[in-house]
Order: sequence, then C-alpha cells, then structure tokens
Amino acid sequence: MKIYTTKKEIAPIIEGLRKKQLTIGLVPTMGALHQGHISLVKTALEETDQVIASIFVNPTQFNNQDDLDKYPRPFEQDIQMLKRISENIIVYAPTPEDIYDGTVKSENYEFDGLENPMEGKFRKGHFDGVGSIVRRLFETLKPSVAYFGEKDYQQLLVIKKLVEKLRIPVEIKGCPILRESDGLAMSSRNGRLSKIDRDAAPFIFKTLNTAKKMFGIKSATKVMEWVTKQFAAHPLLKLEYFQIADSATLEPINRKSKTKTYRAFIAVYAGDVRLIDNIALN
Ligand code: AMP
Repeated sequence: MKIYTTKKEIAPIIEGLRKKQLTIGLVPTMGALHQGHISLVKTALEETDQVIASIFVNPTQFNNQDDLDKYPRPFEQDIQMLKRISENIIVYAPTPEDIYDGTVKSENYEFDGLENPMEGKFRKGHFDGVGSIVRRLFETLKPSVAYFGEKDYQQLLVIKKLVEKLRIPVEIKGCPILRESDGLAMSSRNGRLSKIDRDAAPFIFKTLNTAKKMFGIKSATKVMEWVTKQFAAHPLLKLEYFQIADSATLEPINRKSKTKTYRAFIAVYAGDVRLIDNIALN
C-alpha cells in the first residue's frame, strides 16, 4: 500500500496512471474509517482500475472548532483496514497546508440553492469548505469516478452541482447508507457517543422509518409536527432539524406532488455529538 502526503509526490503517479489510460476511482474520506467507507472503497475497486482513498480532516468545512479538535484521527488503524481490503489501494493523506497551498481558507460557492437549507443553514460555510476541498482533490487526483455516500445526501447533490458548474470531467456516484444492526447510520462520530447515548441513538432511524410510513397517509406538516414532538419528549436526544424536502432540489416540501420524490433529513445532538441521517420517503 502506497501512502502519499503531498501534491508533488502524487502528481507523477497520477500522470503515470493516465498515460496507461487506467481509470481512477476516488473515495474521499475524513478517516476514522468504518464499514460505510469500506463499502464505497469496495464499489470503487469493482468499477475502476486504481482506487485512491483520501484521508483528510478538512478544517474549512467545520464551523465548530471543538468538533474539529475532537474529530477522531486513528490513521494507523485506517491504513490497516484498507490493507485488509486490498494492498493495491493508494492512500492520499495531505496536510492542510499542502492541499490548500499554504492558505487554509475556502472559496465561496453557489450551488443553485442546494447549499442553503439543513446542513448549510446549521453549519455556516460548511458547503464552501466541502466545495473547496473536493475541487482540490479532483484537480490533484483527476479521478474518472468519485464515490460519495447518501449518508451525506445534501453533500452528494452539492458535489454533483460543483462538477456540473465547474465542468470537471468526473462521474459522481452515490452509494447507499450503511447501518449498524440496530439501524444507527454508521458514522465516524458514533465512537464518541457515551454508552447511554449510543443505546439511545437508534431512535433516530426508528423515527425516520415511522415518519416514512406516516408520509404515505398524512400531510408533511403533520409528520414534521409528530417528529418534533417525539424528540421534545426524549430525555437524551436533541433535535436540531427535521425537514422533508424534494430529493432533487432540496426545497422544503409545500404540498405533496405525485410527480416528485421526497426525502426526510434529520440532525440530532446526543450530548455534544451531532448525528445526521436521511431516508427516501416515496
Ligand atoms: P466522511 O469521512 O464522514 O467525510 O465520509 C466519507 C464518505 O463516506 C462520504 O461520502 C460519506 O457520505 C460516506 N459515508 C459516511 N458514512 C456512511 C455510511 N454510513 N454509509 C455510506 N456511506 C457513508
């Protein structure tokens, strides 16, 4: 397994792959890998000639310094996990200074409104940070295909828009959410949950599932009210937002339309750990 930490080191490797006309599959991650990440890597291994997994905790997408400081960074463990899947994966783990050319700052992006609700509203500047890092990863690694999880569904749409707007020649593939056996969406942050919060956290997916069933027979407003009530009564989990939105535009639902598909999105605090999840409703 080869690990590269600078643009200068990896540039000739990328050139070599391109000269041989090999397809590059990129899986961008912030490390603290779990089976959700691994499922993306496995898909990339099946579909492309050379997989690159990037491991980089991107400072510019964090709006909360404490969240950034506490973000887990078990680098050696991550490498072992990838090695178990394939020795042939390239790991790209740059420093912030290297990938940002010395100035660790994001640019401002406009993603046709996809950046405004939910994660954009509650994490100011988040998608500018995401756009900034993903653009740099694409420029440096020149992938043919890049894999992103539906766990971060809004991010997936934002990145599709980024590629369209900047005309970056890469195919963006969305991959399904992997869950623990009790339904909790896998996340690098789950390891930070206290025992009692970890036991409570499956309530999030359970509520999403019930919301999905209700959505078939009740109005969106009724569903949103019901979910809000469930969390208001919960002793440990604090709801930040629950939103039903158009799955293509992320516009909040107004009136159900038979021709549209919808998703429910949720962000919840368990102690100081912020968890997000989402579900297709129809
Ligand atoms: P992160 O390291 O959290 O930035 O995630 C890296 C990539 O893995 C992103 O595209 C995420 O959407 C994806 N991912 C994270 N958790 C999951 C999961 N439970 N299932 C599927 N993909 C995931």
